[in-house]
Formats: sequence, structure tokens, C-alpha cells
Amino acid sequence: MTPKEVLAYAKENGAQMVDFRFLDFPGIWQHFTVPISEFDESSFEDGYGFDGSSIRGWAPINASDMLVVPDPTTAVMDPFFKVPTLTVICNIVDPVTKEKYSRDPRHIAQKAEEYLKFTGIGDTAYIGPEAEFFIFDDIRYDSSAHFGYYFVDSVEGIWNTGREENPNLGYKPRHKEGYFPVPPTDSQQDLRTEMVLMMQKVGIAVECQHHEVATAGQAEIDMRFAPLVKMGDQLMWFKYIIKNVARNHGKTVTFMPKPIYGDNGSGMHTHLSIWKDGQPLFAGDKYAGLSDTALYAVGGILKHAAALCAITNPTTNSYKRLVPGYEAPVNLAYSSRNRSASIRIPMYSASPKAKRIEVRFPDPSCNGYLAFSALLMAALDGIENRIDPGEPLDKDIYSLSPEELADVPSTPGSLEEALKALEADHEFLLKGDVFTQDVIETWIEYKRSREVDPVRLRPHPYEFMLYYDI
Ligand code: GLN
Ligand code: MG
Ligand code: MG
Ligand code: MG
Repeated sequence: MTPKEVLAYAKENGAQMVDFRFLDFPGIWQHFTVPISEFDESSFEDGYGFDGSSIRGWAPINASDMLVVPDPTTAVMDPFFKVPTLTVICNIVDPVTKEKYSRDPRHIAQKAEEYLKFTGIGDTAYIGPEAEFFIFDDIRYDSSAHFGYYFVDSVEGIWNTGREENPNLGYKPRHKEGYFPVPPTDSQQDLRTEMVLMMQKVGIAVECQHHEVATAGQAEIDMRFAPLVKMGDQLMWFKYIIKNVARNHGKTVTFMPKPIYGDNGSGMHTHLSIWKDGQPLFAGDKYAGLSDTALYAVGGILKHAAALCAITNPTTNSYKRLVPGYEAPVNLAYSSRNRSASIRIPMYSASPKAKRIEVRFPDPSCNGYLAFSALLMAALDGIENRIDPGEPLDKDIYSLSPEELADVPSTPGSLEEALKALEADHEFLLKGDVFTQDVIETWIEYKRSREVDPVRLRPHPYEFMLYYDI
């Protein structure tokens, strides 16, 4: 939509308010609202001022005045507010220089798309994320015990505090058998369907929804692939809709990758393909129907995987998911048959248009704009430098002996390890000024000081069980 069309659309839908959306550095949507009387064509030029110093990871106090400038192509009526409200995603602009802000994740994604075109390799990167999540009844804080926060779920009751040996489960899913019996075992069908309908209302094409493997109400909703920035925007809507539908039903959703000890975590397998002039570049006659270009892209992603994890798996909790035995990848290898590999080549369709790679290590705690951009940059580095991905690993990686696995590198064991890898390996992200040195340094500093250290320095609940009586 053009600015004129947005105004007409707002009028047609009786919008009384306009809500502006942008995200902080870690990736949570922020917003503020103006009456429709404060919104006209000039809004798309002049933007609206706000204090950037209060946004996590952003400008220091001495340079805090910033502008949000609405992007007219993103305008849509918000499906949740009681008063009809137009919602628009915004770019962040410096009021003095009028330049887009280098730490705005959406801007980084825009630059990644520009860099793809600049290389001449392709013109469109298509992204398809499968973000998994848990729907819980409640989250409580138990001050009488040393367990801290725990999840309450109608499926199994209290979480993370141990479970009875072999109880009659009634129609509750058996351990790791949530994928995917019909109701009444699946008790969240209507909830997921309501989420899908809301997504369609804001223009997201959804392919499928289902219960996932974990017993405690794990779910997956799959959006149809879309270009990188558009998918960044859609992932924000996706999380917003899922959290708010759950909230309206007295439930709560988490995208943290490993909320439950001993059960599957939530991944965000990310499908990627690059196109040029309407032609898919990843289809060919090499391994699993891939082209050389696709294999080099795999080579680039595997080469930079440890550094990528600092962006695609950016929480301390992420590394509790990347362990053997829960369908999450641990080894940095690729395969068409093997879901235990970090990169899988889906074989569902023989059509060249469907040819893509599925990167399985990312998780939904990431900032989508940053994660998709970083994956694309690694793929482009692989293509530009013809990085050989090595031989595919067509065995179940989980069942290999330690000797057989000796040569296969692993995903990092902790966020700190991933941050160290990013510190040592980020040249590929700086190309085309997509990620700046400031962004990399700020990210690492932010993650260390706000997440790694506070978690590392805190006594863990489980330590009390182990050591209290020592
Ligand atoms: N939940 C698994 C993960 O952590 C994926 C399960 C699946 O979709 N096969 O990646
Ligand atoms: Mg899936
Ligand atoms: Mg899944
Ligand atoms: Mg998948």
C-alpha cells in the first residue's frame, strides 16, 4: 500500500487509533499509539519521536532522541484491540542525519536483502521458519520451595519437580508422544486454529498447524515461506498473535527453547532458498537434487555455524535444547535423510521450486530479522568462496560411536561458547555493512552482561537439591 492507500484503508475500517511497532535489540515488539487525527501522509516522511535510550540495547542517553517512520507496506488492522486500530511496522531513523538506525534489526534485514542483490548471486531469499512453542495454563512462583518459577499445565500438573513413575495418563499424551493423536489427547486444537485464523486476518499464509512431540502442550504452526524482511515482520505478528490468543483464553505461551527438563525443546527449523529472476537457484543435479550453489551455501552455514548460533540460538536456555536425544541437532553436518543433522535437505517434493535447505539448529528465542540475515550472509559467504560442505552424513548421528563422531564438529555447548565463536568469526556478517562492528560488539556485550553472567552467577535451584545437606 502507498501512504494514500493506507489512509483510505484506515478510514474504510473505521480506525480510530494508529499503533506503531518496532522491536528492541533482543527482539521484543515495542509500541505506542496515536489518535488517527495525528496521522496523515506526512507521517510517513516525518515519523514520530520517542526516547531510544529506554529501549534494550539501543542508544546511550546522550543520543536518545529517535524517530519511528511507519512503513506503509506493513499497515493492517490489529485483530485484538477493542477500539479499531491500524497497526504499522516502522523503521527507526536518526532525527538529525535522517539515516536509518544501524542497531534496528529490521534495518539489518533490509541491508541483507540489498547485499544479496549487490552480489549478483540472486535477488530474493525465501525464508520459511517452523517456530515451535509451548502453551501452558499458568506460570507460578513458588516462594515456599527453592524451585522458583514453575509451569502449571492441565496435562501433567506441576512441572520440573519430578513426576510419578507410571501413572494412568487417561487421555494425556504419553511421554514424547504428543506428535500427534487426535482429541481428546490433543486438547489444544481449537486454540491453535484460532491462532491460525487470526494470522490469516493479518495476511499471513499458513500451511499447517499441529501438536508437537512434547507432552505438555507443545505446538507448531507453519507459515508459507516469504522474502526475508517480510518473514521478519510476519514472525513478529506470529508471536504476537499466538501469545495474545493464548492470553485471551487464560493461558500463556513460551517460545523459550527448553522449558521442560527431559522433554523435547522448541526449535525453529528455518528453510532457506535463493532465487534470481524468478528462478530457483538451489535445484540441480548434485546430492539430494541440490545445485552447486546450494551446496556452497550449506558449506558457508556449516563453516560459520558456531558464530551463527550466537544469533540464531541467542539465550542461555538455547543450549539446554541442543543436546542428544530430543530431535534437536547436535552435530554440524548435512543430510537428506537425517533429522539429527544440523542441515536437512527436505525430499517431500521433486519440484525445483520446492528445493531448499532446512537449517535445524535455530530456535524461536532468536530475533528473526537478525537470525535470517545472519543465515543468508553465511550462505552467501559459502557461495562467494565456493566453500565445500564435505560429505553428507546419512546415518543417524545419535547412534554413532565417539570415534565415528570425532571428526564431526558440534554445535556450541553454551551461549558463552557461541559468543566467543562470534567474536572470532564475524567478517562474513560485516560485508555490505549489513551487521556493523558496533552491532556485533553491542550484541556480545549485551548478552554477556545481561544474560550469561546473571545466569552463571546465580545459585541454581537444582544445586539446592544436590548440595544443601552437604
Ligand atoms: N522440537 C524439535 C527441535 O527441537 C524438532 C521436532 C520436529 O519438528 N521434528 O528441533
Ligand atoms: Mg515441522
Ligand atoms: Mg516441529
Ligand atoms: Mg522441520
